[in-house]
Amino acid sequence: MSILFDQIVFGPIKSRRFGSSLGINLLPLKDKICNFNCIYCECGWTDLKSVNDTFFSKEEILEAIEISFKELSLSNVEIDSITFAGNGEPTMHPYFSKIIDQVIFLRNKYLPGIKIVVLSNSALLSSKKVVEALQKVDLRVLKLDAGTEETFLKINQPLSSKKIDWYIDKLKEFQGKLIIQTIFLRGNYDNQFIDNTVVEEVDSWLKAIKEINPQSVMIYTIDRETPAENLEKISEAQLNLIADKVKAIGIDAKVYY
Ligand code: SF4
Repeated sequence: MSILFDQIVFGPIKSRRFGSSLGINLLPLKDKICNFNCIYCECGWTDLKSVNDTFFSKEEILEAIEISFKELSLSNVEIDSITFAGNGEPTMHPYFSKIIDQVIFLRNKYLPGIKIVVLSNSALLSSKKVVEALQKVDLRVLKLDAGTEETFLKINQPLSSKKIDWYIDKLKEFQGKLIIQTIFLRGNYDNQFIDNTVVEEVDSWLKAIKEINPQSVMIYTIDRETPAENLEKISEAQLNLIADKVKAIGIDAKVYY
């Protein structure tokens, strides 16, 4: 069963990684829109051919955000972050960069000091506007679920033909001012066994992490039902061992379980 957010602004929700987080969903409410088709995606499979719903306009989104920020600023509810996530890939909204500029303005007006976080799969880092917008927010949390092409294709099923090296190069361009998020999992999908925790996979991923040199790495595993059946959670102990390997190359890492 997939979970789709039914509002532009949702929460605040208790997030494993971002504390009390006010979520912003720039994607339509009835359909997931993404340029990846991750086998673990909580929003379900990507099926762009059957998308009927359209993007909200920039104005509708900013109105919903301003109402919510204003309400929060007048309430006793405390939040730690404003997080762009939701029903797919936020950078795919055609006005993503303009929306970021306005949300920074509104945050400064109503909720000064609260961090703006964007979760992204990095597929649109070919767009200068997207990169510049990501550079403006407080935290950009970018996905890298594998270090080898083969496992990247199996886990993330990108809709474009860009190679994993393209992603690694684009992530390097942030010059360390980014957080990498990586999910670890194993299981069978499409008659193939997938496991990004085996030594060779972790070593290739670590090599990429070293090159990217992020501020930190967020390590986690599946938490809810996944569209691909037969995927299994990785134990906390094994995730801690992977985090230790990241720390051993001088990069901060944290397990979220
Ligand atoms: S990138 Fe995110 S939204 Fe897109 S398929 Fe993967 S998990 Fe789902």
